[in-house]
Amino acid sequence: MLACRICDGRVEEFCDFGRQPLSDAFLGPDGRDDEYFFRLAVGVCSSCAMVQLVEEVPRTRMFHEDYPYRSSGSTRMRRHFERTAEELLAGELSQGDPFIVEIGCNDGIMLKTISRAGVRHLGVEPSGGVAQLARADGVRVTTEFFQESSALTIRKTDGAADVVYAANTVCHIPYMDSIFRGVDALLGPDGVFVFEDPYLGDVIDRTSFDQIYDEHFYLFSVTSVDAMARRFGFELVNAERLPVHGGEVRYTLARKGRRPVAREVHELLAEEERRGLATLEVLRGFAERARGIRERLVALLRELRAAGKTVAGYGATAKSATVLNYCGIGPDLLPYISDTTPTKQGRLTPGSHIPVRTPDSFADPYPDYALLFAWNHSEEIMAKEQRFRQEGGKWILYVPDVRIV
Ligand code: SAM
Repeated sequence: MLACRICDGRVEEFCDFGRQPLSDAFLGPDGRDDEYFFRLAVGVCSSCAMVQLVEEVPRTRMFHEDYPYRSSGSTRMRRHFERTAEELLAGELSQGDPFIVEIGCNDGIMLKTISRAGVRHLGVEPSGGVAQLARADGVRVTTEFFQESSALTIRKTDGAADVVYAANTVCHIPYMDSIFRGVDALLGPDGVFVFEDPYLGDVIDRTSFDQIYDEHFYLFSVTSVDAMARRFGFELVNAERLPVHGGEVRYTLARKGRRPVAREVHELLAEEERRGLATLEVLRGFAERARGIRERLVALLRELRAAGKTVAGYGATAKSATVLNYCGIGPDLLPYISDTTPTKQGRLTPGSHIPVRTPDSFADPYPDYALLFAWNHSEEIMAKEQRFRQEGGKWILYVPDVRIV
């Protein structure tokens, strides 16, 4: 029996994307690097409703000195985190001499606004390269994994925190028991643990199966986070839907009984119950729709190749690894992907071995079609790439279904 990583309950598998590489392990141009593969399958706990991967990838294989994801690559996300920081400064961090700890601060996209406001802060970021970028921006960072032991050290050196914050990071961490013991050790009596991550409800609604990859160990819902909070002595006191990254929820947890529970929590719990979000029927329906998308996407790419059309990928995202490897798309169907991340350029995509090129090559000359992997930034990208459309180019999207726009 497969045991739940949160509560030890029985996990039922509902979706299998097969053998997959590490989503951010880009290869050297000769493609000779050793690649690590694992089985990417997803299950749901029949006791606490937590949706989770059935196989865990060792954390140091994913988060290390060369981890390539840079949060500040997107203008929209820079604005989102500036606003988040301003809200925290005006609210939880407005009294006395406040202190905030961010788990997974990456290049400092959120904490730099906190730092500029002169508020005490600490980023905990195990990926050395991005942590260095945050430091260069005036952010105080410790290069390590957040867990109980690191939290105890921070508590000793800096005192209690008013806020422990994380974005797109808590869902990356299987060992929640250690995380919650750490948060418990670190937070003051009225402190809050705030984290935002992709929302299961949106993933199901949009069939965005590419939100599932090695780094996304959990896919949270309000129901599963509520149960997890209670299990570890906390209470879910707010849940706010966010329009970023294809649909997320920002959860606020407090110590039990310290804060009123917002109406939104009750409403979202009731809505999830009504739609049967964590039922096997709904989750198996999602898996079935993902299989349909795979068939239609591969058929379209084969048709375009047969018609002599050129196709390029846009955005060598971590998400694209699931699509490319699940669909069996290689350089024969997609000769290259353009990407703005310098550390991905000149390399090959994990598992599928498609060359990654600079954005300049996208326009030199434009392909007939561009398969948009960074669909969560589609507005920003389509505004930036207006000339591609003006010169007759068309976008291929696969979320919520395969279509040409
Ligand atoms: N917060 C940023 C954002 O929303 O754009 C970064 C998100 S990035 C997808 C996830 C980050 O979490 C990576 O920078 C990774 O190194 C970091 N991370 C992974 N496990 C961690 C842990 N146990 N403690 C702290 N950071 C962790």
